[in-house]
Amino acid sequence: MAQGGKPHFNQPLGGNDMPRFGGATTMMRLPAQATADGLDACFVGIPMDIGTSNRTGTRHGPRAIRAESCMLRPYNMATGAGPFAKMQVADIGDVPINTFDLKKTVDIITDAYNAILSHDCVPLTLGGDHTLTYPVLRAIAAKHGPVALIHIDAHADTNEHMFGEAIAHGTPFRRAVEDGLLINDKVFQIGLRGTGYTPDDFDWGRQQGFTVVPAEECWHKSLTPLMNDIRAQIGSAPVYLTYDIDSLDPAFAPGTGTVEMGGLTTIQALEIVRGCKGLNVVGCDLVEVSPQYDTSGATALIGSNLLYEMLCILPKTWA
Ligand code: MN
Ligand code: MN
Repeated sequence: MAQGGKPHFNQPLGGNDMPRFGGATTMMRLPAQATADGLDACFVGIPMDIGTSNRTGTRHGPRAIRAESCMLRPYNMATGAGPFAKMQVADIGDVPINTFDLKKTVDIITDAYNAILSHDCVPLTLGGDHTLTYPVLRAIAAKHGPVALIHIDAHADTNEHMFGEAIAHGTPFRRAVEDGLLINDKVFQIGLRGTGYTPDDFDWGRQQGFTVVPAEECWHKSLTPLMNDIRAQIGSAPVYLTYDIDSLDPAFAPGTGTVEMGGLTTIQALEIVRGCKGLNVVGCDLVEVSPQYDTSGATALIGSNLLYEMLCILPKTWA
């Protein structure tokens, strides 16, 4: 507590106190700390790409997102959110994954998130490939029970196996269903598209009760009505938000490993995340940024902005 008994929260380092291209490379130039102790929300990186199936490079995603986040200012001019006036937020660094062992890595991630969640802190994850959402969901469900899921992606990520392996970036939501981590009829997959192995590749989720919104149903329109409908269907259930950057059209976000044309716009991405305001969001991630294919840095920049927008819709920002 600061003088006058008013709560004093961490603030992003301002652009008039240190040039934006200087200082420590934390998310939004927030203070760093080692654990989630005392935090309402934290940014945490998972520097992994050992679950990818095509282009690699997402191990460098968290660092690139942090670097591009240097432009972010504390107030959201469109929504009026001021998350740093309401919540204690810090960057708690990266999960020390085992880059030689994917199976050990998923257990390392679950252990790390169990520790974060013991502090009553909402984790916002900088990925990393999409494999990571499965071990994060194990920890989330251990605390909150099964959760609703808003999953924005070009891909369903519900494969039974990839190259015979159960754990990979194309399988996390199949594993999550098998483990009972999700409220299946409150799972929404948005932006799916591209080529498949069979015509019914997206139907496995539907058979479990998921709502699948292919990219073609999103073309040429605002997604605000969709989000109004999703909020009504989810109600007060705890919700996890997982955002695969490849949901965006490669014109906006080329810096990723499994690119598909005909994707969402950045405006639609904002409508989706802002449309989560009012939901009981208990965790978020932004995955699949691969900086080596991101020649302008725009993909990591968009990723950093979407993570900030996620912070802006957390319940405590509006409490
Ligand atoms: Mn994905
Ligand atoms: Mn994807």
